[in-house]
Parts: sequence; C-alpha cells; structure tokens
Amino acid sequence: MVACPDSDTPATDTPPLFTVAVRALCEFTAKRGDLDLRFTPSPTAQEGMAGHQRVATRRPQGYQTELALSGRHGPLAVRGRADGFDPQAGRLEEIKTHKGPLSRQPANHRALHWAQLKVYGALLCACHDRSELELALVYLDVATDKETVLTERCRASDLQAFWHGLADAFLSWALQEAGHRAARDAALSGLQFPHPSFRQGQRALAEGVFKVTRAGRCLLAEAPTGIGKTMATLFGQLKAVPVQQLDKVFFLTAKTSGRGLALGALNTLHATSAPPLRSLELVARDKSCEHPDKACHGASCPLAHGFYDRLPAARQAAVNEATHGPLEAAVLRRVALHHLVCPYYLGQEMARWADVVVGDYNHFFDLHAMLFALTQAQGWRVALLVDEAHNLVDRARKMYSAELRQHSLAAARAAVRTTAPASLRRKLGALHTAWRKLNLAATGPLHPMPDVPGVWLAALQAAVVAMGDYFNEAEAALGQVAAEVEAGAEAGVEAAGEGAAPGLGGQRDPVPTALRAFYLEALQACRVAELFDDHGLCDLTLQGAPLPTPRSLSGINLRNVVPAPHLVPRWAAAHSATLFSATLQPLAHTRRLLGLPDNTALLGVESPFDARQLRVEVAHGVSTRYAHRAHSRSALVALMARQFAAQPGNYLAFFSSHEYVQQVSAVFQATHPEVPVWVQQRGMSESEQQSFLDAFTEHGQGIGFAVLGGSFGEGIDLPGQRLIGAFIATLGLPQVNPVNERMRQRLDELGHYGRGYQAVYLYPGLQKVVQAAGRVIRTTTDQGVLHLMDERYTRADVRRLLPAWWGTHRG
Ligand code: SF4
Repeated sequence: MVACPDSDTPATDTPPLFTVAVRALCEFTAKRGDLDLRFTPSPTAQEGMAGHQRVATRRPQGYQTELALSGRHGPLAVRGRADGFDPQAGRLEEIKTHKGPLSRQPANHRALHWAQLKVYGALLCACHDRSELELALVYLDVATDKETVLTERCRASDLQAFWHGLADAFLSWALQEAGHRAARDAALSGLQFPHPSFRQGQRALAEGVFKVTRAGRCLLAEAPTGIGKTMATLFGQLKAVPVQQLDKVFFLTAKTSGRGLALGALNTLHATSAPPLRSLELVARDKSCEHPDKACHGASCPLAHGFYDRLPAARQAAVNEATHGPLEAAVLRRVALHHLVCPYYLGQEMARWADVVVGDYNHFFDLHAMLFALTQAQGWRVALLVDEAHNLVDRARKMYSAELRQHSLAAARAAVRTTAPASLRRKLGALHTAWRKLNLAATGPLHPMPDVPGVWLAALQAAVVAMGDYFNEAEAALGQVAAEVEAGAEAGVEAAGEGAAPGLGGQRDPVPTALRAFYLEALQACRVAELFDDHGLCDLTLQGAPLPTPRSLSGINLRNVVPAPHLVPRWAAAHSATLFSATLQPLAHTRRLLGLPDNTALLGVESPFDARQLRVEVAHGVSTRYAHRAHSRSALVALMARQFAAQPGNYLAFFSSHEYVQQVSAVFQATHPEVPVWVQQRGMSESEQQSFLDAFTEHGQGIGFAVLGGSFGEGIDLPGQRLIGAFIATLGLPQVNPVNERMRQRLDELGHYGRGYQAVYLYPGLQKVVQAAGRVIRTTTDQGVLHLMDERYTRADVRRLLPAWWGTHRG
C-alpha cells in the first residue's frame, strides 16, 4: 500500500473545512443521465472482493493495490483508495465487478465510475508529478471471469481541471449546507413555543422529549388525546437538536392523519418563528408517481429521462422552497414538474438534505426501510418521534411476517409454461412438489409447523435465484410493483455503496405479471424466513377442504408474534426515540414487545380533563360476548335510544366488527326511524369517510355506527357539540381463533412478554376502547357521556386499563 501526501494544492497549515471520500464527491457532483431502476443484479460483497483480488493477481510484479490518495482544493480535502496502479505501464485502474451483460449497465453508473477514476488520476498525477496517465476502467464479470477494459489517455492538466470542477461544485453546496446548519441550530436554540401558553400536560411532554434526547435515551410517553402531543413532541425535539448536534428528526406516523398533524405543527412553527428548518413529507410511490403506466427508466418515463442532469437545479429549487415552509407532497410535486424530474425520487433525494422528515413507520422500521439504511450509511445522528405508537406492535408484526400462496405459484407456472427456460420451470416445479408434500401431511385446515420447513425453503430459495437469473438473461425487467416494494431498498443500496444488494426497477413488461407477483411474494418470504426464530410462528393453511387431497392448495404463513428482536437494531441506530400515544398501557409491557432498551423512560402525562367532563356509565347485566349478542342486541338499542331521547345530539356507537355494526344499526333503524343514523361501510373511500364525519355538525343530531379500531375509532377530531357521547359495545377483544390462540400460547412459552391472554386479547382490545372513547372529550370545555356496554367493564383488571381521569378505577 502506498500513501501519497496531499500535494494538489500548495502546502497549507489550514485544516480543511470539509473532508469527503472520492466516491461521495463523485456521487454528488458527477452522476449524469437517466434514472434507471431496471433489474441489474449486483455481485455480493464477497464476490466483489474476490473479483478485485483475481484481477490483481493477473497484473505484473510491482502492481500496487489500494493506493491511498488524497488532495486539497481550498477548504475541501478529498481522500480515497484507487484500486490498482501499474507504475511500469503508467496505468491507473478502477476495478468494478458485475453480473450479466455490461451493455445493461445504466449510463449513470458508467459516468460515476469514470469520474472516480479521473479524480484518482488527478491526485496521482499531482503526487507523482506526472504530466499524463493512462486510465483504465476494468469491468470483471464475476460469473465468467471475463475482463472488459475501457482505457483513456489523459493529460494531468485536464484531470486537474476535472477534479477542481467537481470540487468547486461540491464546495458551493457544502458551504451552503454548513451555513444552513449553523443558522438552523442558532434559531432552534432560541425557538419559542408557538402558542401563548402550554396546555396542561404539554410542557411535561415537551420537557420529557428534550431530556431523553439530551441523555441519548428512549421515551415511551402516554399522554391523553387533546393536549397537543404533536406540537409538544416536535417542540421538545427541535429544542434538543442543537444541544445534541442532531442531523435529523424523523417524525414517523401510522396513518395519513398523523402526518397531516405533524405538517400542520411544522407550518405553525414556520408561521410564528420562521426557523430556517427544512421539513419534508415523504409519501408512497403510488401517491406521487406521475406516470403509473410507465416504468422507472429513461426510455419509458419522461421524468426519469435526464433525471440526474436536472437533479442539481431541482434540488436547489427544493431547498429554496423549504425556506417558506414544509416541503409537502404538493410543493415537492410543483418543484419536480417544473424541473422535469420525478417527484417521488426527488423526495428520496431531499431526505438527505431535510432536517425533519415526516414519513410512515415503514420508512424506518420495515425490512427495506429507506431512512434506516440512509442513517446507517451516512452515519447520521437522528432522533425519532413515533406518533400513535400503540399501532407499532401490529404494524411491525406485519413488516416481519410473510404469506406465500400456492395459487400464486400455480399462476406463475402457468404463465411461463411455454416461454421460460427449462431450468426455471424445473425449479418452480420442484417447489410445487415440496409444497404438495407439506399439504399431504397437513392434519387440519390450519396446520402448525414448528419451523419453516427446510426442504420447502431450499426449493423456494432456488426458485428465487432461478427467477432472478431469468429476468437477467431475458434482459427482462421487473415492473412498477417491484420498484415500489424495493423503493426503500433501492435507496439503501445507493447509500450503502456498490455491491450491497441488487437494485430492482421497472420496465414493462416482458415478464408475465403472475411470475413477477410471485417473485415479489417469494422474496419477502425468503427474507422473513432468514430472520425467523421462536418469536414467530409458521403454519400451513389449506384452501378449500378441511383435510388435504392430492389437489389441495395452501398458503404458508410466517407470522411474527414479537417484533422486539427486529426493532432492537432500529432503536440502536437512533440517538434517541420518543414513542407517544394516548393508549400504551401497560407501558412496561409495550416497551418489552417493541424491544426498547431497558433504560427507556416511561412517562404518563396527566390529563387536562377531569371526571366532571365525562359521565361514564357501565351497562350492568349486558353481555356482548359473541354467544350472547343476539340476546343483548335489543338491550343495546334501548340504551342508545334512551340516551338519545334524554340528550339529543351527535353520538358515535362502536362495535367490534362490520357484521355487528350492521346487525345493531338495522335493529336501531327499524325501531327508532326518527333518529338519523350514519353507518360505516366496508372499504369507504377517503371522500366517503369525510362525508360520514361531515354529518357531525355543531347543531346536528344522530348516531354514527362505526367499527372499533377502524377509521373513526381514532385520529378524528369532533370537538364541542359535534360529538357529545359514545357507546362502546364489547371490550374490543380480538377474535378467539386458532391463529390468535397460537400467538397466546407462544407468548406464554416465551414468558418474557407477560401473559399471552393479556398481550393478545385484553391490552389491544382496551387500547381500541380508550382510543374510541377519546373522541368525546377534545377540549377542557367539552362535556360528554360514555356508555360502556358490557358487564365486563365492572372487572378490576379491565378498569385498571382505563384512563385514571375517568374515575372508573375505583369501581
Ligand atoms: S415513479 Fe413514476 S414518475 Fe417517477 S420515474 Fe417512476 S414511472 Fe416515472
């Protein structure tokens, strides 16, 4: 290894203001051409390293590898390691490994490789006082071991001019960013709360966030609805940013409504203090794609064509726009379309330059989480705000679960029966055979399996490899669905560097849709299977008949029960995290299920409301257990009618399922036609949901029938007379079924996560109840009534899980 001293600029004692790796310098300044996310399989990290070594062994004696080079350009220092230098031939080499035809390499990759090599060339010429140099880009196909060498003879003066050009572009941006950072931190240090005073509980929550961030810890905070949790947490977090030199804050939400509240709070901060704070809304691809009928590469989509050529101007425009307020999706879209770049990928780019990113849980917690990958790759110091965190257990379970259906395999096989090569058809056939054997061994409609079956999994993995090869060989590409699923991974690949993982992208559509769909399901199943342990369950679900036949089809499910092990690395990657919600009881139990560190602070914020505002009535002698529902229906209807007659106004009535909603609402309408009712339907669109809510007017009267835990059970705000009471039937307990029962047993076996019954049934049920009831009292002047329509609400273990301020703990 040879190290060359800084020699590009005259010796200076001034320490550099910025130090950057050659690769990072080039990625920022020299990427040109189209966005191109077509399927381009990459060698693994091991294949890449072995390839580099093989190339080096073929070079003559005296060949130098990993040549350390560095240089200065004004306040910028750059350093890196060139892959190889042959001093005899005067040839500097950059070695890149690849898989598949080189002709399919995206042009922006090639431009990047040349840029890196030229910068190394400039540094080497300066170091060795050379007037010219041969540059060689060496591409090694790891499958065939064939080298493709592209060479160019360059004069040192041209190379110097090239590197200085990149350095100037980088410096201009870096100086702007450093200025922004200093101004941001100064403004946040003096940030004032944007309202005349804190609401009760708001200051305690804001202080809690500030303190845990200062201590680099996590916080689990339960705070009642209506105190302004969003503003409190954001304010406390932003005040801690300069203290802890945080790079970014990620505000992560479960639902669009939470995202809207966060953006609203950020808009308020901008309106009152105008801090130089860049905020960004990250949205899903299907919500921001301008050309859903196209694929993400320049030959298909006009907004991918020349994307990297126009990105610098679009990036600068977005940064300028962010001085006026959050870069919400509509703002980003306007900027992107003005510069003819894709709004979705401009959003991904802006995540690198934003101070606050408002996104979905997925962006940080799922298997491909883009913000998590970037945090790790860039070494960012980030703080997390996790909104409505009672949703995270269930959401995380889904992220680390997979379901693979045999009929998807059958459809994929049928789609390629005559077109795919025999090798692919054999692998898919072998998987079908392994699956069939599992079906025949099933003992019932839901057949538990102690582990992911090894033979089946090996066949699945082989089929995945064969499908990947097929896409590659056919120069086929995965379509929009693949790019959607892999959007996070794709950003992570770019962040993590070459060879980290294959990128996926789209081109319509030489690959049959059925094969593509099955491939995506199979990939997810393989990834979940790799992580599978006793925190999950595996089962086979027969379709159709309860016992297997030779023609049976089934699904194989990998169900996560405890997400804790998967989330531990996510908390570790963050400097601090605050999870908040109105319903996290019991806090210690929630902490364990989510894998939060032992030293996580637990905070119960006192409610600003008191028992005089909410009259809580328990319906003694009424059972809404499944077996008793037909019998108790008329009692529920009578109770609701009595309450409405005594105090006409707007009410919400919650039931545990759509079926139950329909049953009770039908009886109510038949017996009390004079009372207006609004009934939640399955799959309501956003506008239909809004119409449902619009019926709750300040002077209106009627009863809305809704599903507990559904769209109207949390996250909606009907203050004052818009809602004067709620009826809640059942305890919201999830259905007792074989899957939930297995989960309960597994939690009991694990022991560490409390009793299974409580974790699977009682706690989630009561969380839904408290959320739904929380719709009634929204301000300190609201008055209302809550009818808990089940005799089990008299039980002490149930009452303990209700908010203390209701005054029901005493029984
Ligand atoms: S997400 Fe849509 S608009 Fe963007 S590059 Fe892909 S196809 Fe084009």
